[in-house]
Amino acid sequence: MKPTGEKGPLYGINMDRIEVPETWRNRAERSIAQGALTNSKRPQSLVEGVYPTHLLKGKGPYVWDSDGNKYIDLIAGLGTSILGYAHPEVDQAATDAIRDGLCLSLSTTLEVRAAERIREYIPYIERVKFLKTGTEACMAALKIARSYTNRNYVRSQDYHGWSDPFVSLMDPASGVPKFLGQNNHAIHKYEKPGDITQDLAAVIIEPVNVDFSPARVEELKEMRKRCDETGTMLIFDEIITGFRFSKKCVTLKTKVKPDLLCMGKAIANGYPLALVGGKKEIMDNDQYFVSGTYCGERASLAAMIKVIDLLHSKYDIEFLWEKGQRFKEIFNNLCGGFVWLDGYGTRNILKAENDKNKALFMQECCKGGLLLGPSVFYNFAHTQIEDSIFSIIRDVMNRIKGGMVSLEGKIPSSPFAQKMRGQ
Ligand code: PMP
Repeated sequence: MKPTGEKGPLYGINMDRIEVPETWRNRAERSIAQGALTNSKRPQSLVEGVYPTHLLKGKGPYVWDSDGNKYIDLIAGLGTSILGYAHPEVDQAATDAIRDGLCLSLSTTLEVRAAERIREYIPYIERVKFLKTGTEACMAALKIARSYTNRNYVRSQDYHGWSDPFVSLMDPASGVPKFLGQNNHAIHKYEKPGDITQDLAAVIIEPVNVDFSPARVEELKEMRKRCDETGTMLIFDEIITGFRFSKKCVTLKTKVKPDLLCMGKAIANGYPLALVGGKKEIMDNDQYFVSGTYCGERASLAAMIKVIDLLHSKYDIEFLWEKGQRFKEIFNNLCGGFVWLDGYGTRNILKAENDKNKALFMQECCKGGLLLGPSVFYNFAHTQIEDSIFSIIRDVMNRIKGGMVSLEGKIPSSPFAQKMRGQ
């Protein structure tokens, strides 16, 4: 469809004179800065030219694109969907909360109930602050740590959101003050436990990105020890691993206790909610300022309470964890080393010997009705349709092995976030 009602110059282009196929992508590029809201949802982050660019809806393990095509979705909303999209009981809880007003003028009883539930569910958390995004939770954790220790310097290792200190470590760090890496807000890269010194307020890491080897657990213990010796706050960013890892999170699984813990994504099955929690003497320090109009937004808090209820009653994280490990093994066997999943049962990174093989595999899966991203998130909804997933992968591998296919789209370009992780 050509643009109809648009007359006159738009950014210097006369829309009457050029024929632009009216795709959702074109429309997005004319209205949304940089064409997309989320870095890893940009067309360039996937196999551009083959992947759909815009979705209409999701349900359970499925999504539908703007042309109505249905896909099994192993990207799972970048890890937010742990029970499946549009889960009826979670949505009902959120809808009930909305009916009583989403954002009220004083603190609400629901936020107290939500805080009590999270303390009970993750007993390590004695006090909590709810926020909306993982970025905010990690920013808050740094601030709380600096305030408590009265120190400035921090170190970090992985992706912890888009706030200035973290982005200052990622090229090109455009728009971030150039002195941020050097002055009082200094942040440096964490590489080894010996980097934890007495001038550090905090070290923030993802305790498990995908490596859950005994060596990694040893490193976490060593970090804990160094933090105790130097009075440094150990912050675990469990934005991804929270409610997704065996025993609910890495902290409870490994029993290596951080001073502060961040969670997000899966905790409310896709409703915008994140949290930072920890010991009361650190969290209750009155000197820091962390606050937001929407922190007590009630639909997300109600959704989180319902997710916890369901993880107690209907859904067992250990079952998902083990089924996910088997899923990974079968997936890897079927792919015979052309591509492979690297990680733990509920979260893996798709790897290949080269980017072209990875792109070709993603392209063929997409054409077969299976969406994969750089990260593959396995959730409860996928457990019901594994056979369909494996059958698509079998067909894809037959086509690839038979030399019947070639790359039609572009090789995904890494978002900044992934450059940090050395991928
Ligand atoms: N920490 C980690 C480990 C993440 O993966 C992400 C997001 N992918 C964030 C923090 C930032 O979370 P958000 O995008 O909700 O701000």
